[in-house]
Amino acid sequence: MNTKEIIEKLYKENNATKEELLYLLNNIDDESKDLLIKRAHETRMKHYGNKVYVRGLIELTSYCKKDCMYCGLRKSNKNAKRYRLTKEQVLECVRKGDKLGYKTFVLQGGEDAYFNDERMVDIISSIKKEFPNNAITLSLGERSYESYKKMFDAGADRYLLRHESASKDLYEKIHIKESFEKRRECLKNLKEIGYQTGAGFMVGLPNQTNEDLVNDFLFVKELEPAMCGIGPFIPHKDTPLRDYAHGSVEKTITCLAIVRLLLPKVLLPATTALSSIDKTGRDQGIKAGGNVIMPNLSPMDVRKNYSLYDNKAYILDEDAEYRKMIEEKIKSLGFEIETTRGDNPDFRKEEC
Ligand code: SAH
Ligand code: SF4
Repeated sequence: MNTKEIIEKLYKENNATKEELLYLLNNIDDESKDLLIKRAHETRMKHYGNKVYVRGLIELTSYCKKDCMYCGLRKSNKNAKRYRLTKEQVLECVRKGDKLGYKTFVLQGGEDAYFNDERMVDIISSIKKEFPNNAITLSLGERSYESYKKMFDAGADRYLLRHESASKDLYEKIHIKESFEKRRECLKNLKEIGYQTGAGFMVGLPNQTNEDLVNDFLFVKELEPAMCGIGPFIPHKDTPLRDYAHGSVEKTITCLAIVRLLLPKVLLPATTALSSIDKTGRDQGIKAGGNVIMPNLSPMDVRKNYSLYDNKAYILDEDAEYRKMIEEKIKSLGFEIETTRGDNPDFRKEEC
């Protein structure tokens, strides 16, 4: 099989073998890349049309008890500026977001014991009380089954927990003393509880091989997450991985397009990390099958302190201005902003 045949198989059958995926990554040239992107775009058009879903990102806390080697919020980073939002601050962000037409709020943060179940349930139910029709996505790392369940029962709809890498060796190199199995167990629990669950991985991690990326493809194909966050690794100056190169935009785009073909209905963000290393990164992501963007809704004064990696695209324009700008930009690419909740079409939401 050649690369074009593998792409056509992916397009028609939404599947490929381990060997085929590896062959594709190892041998892809410009011409096949164009075909891959074209097929990913057609697949997205079939299931979602030209809609791009918007999620308002609220960066809840920069405290973290974990020590992921790549991340600027890791607990050993003494230079990190730490903050926590109050419930009232979160509600202000949410009100601002709703006015801008953002019907999903993503509460993301480090693993911070301050945001225990009681506090999270209070925040989630307060948001749902004011905005019963909006969706809440959480991205707060690994927690117990009971904790995930309590937050779900309080009204959370979705949970983003990237698996980061599906290769045990690589995972354990960048998460010292953390359990590869536990992360996967969390993803299983989230699905079982009923969350629309998001997995995902970084591209271009130090020493990552194409075999590792193929493991990521096979893992997400099997898990069938409702969402999949894929972004380039970007070094942060206050982490042990500071001297490594960032992942390439090109490779990230290739991975996005392959995942669009493997999981035709997945919600696939064109990530902030992608726009942070290339001004056109987000646009390229959208053209290659990406159908979600996540504008920042956090209070302006904390944005710089939620520093996962260097040169993060901190948007410091007025949010309403940014909203207009993004709408025009998306339109100019031939797409349209969609301001409904934007659930995964396969997800059976219980009638209430
Ligand atoms: N603490 C939670 C959520 C916040 S981190 C968690 O870890 O799940 C959100 C995501 O940012 C992580 O899943 C990781 O994939 C990404 N990230 C962190 N540091 C990064 C870096 N240096 N480069 C690229 N992505 C990074
Ligand atoms: Fe904490 Fe998440 Fe960063 Fe890991 S990636 S250090 S869990 S914020």
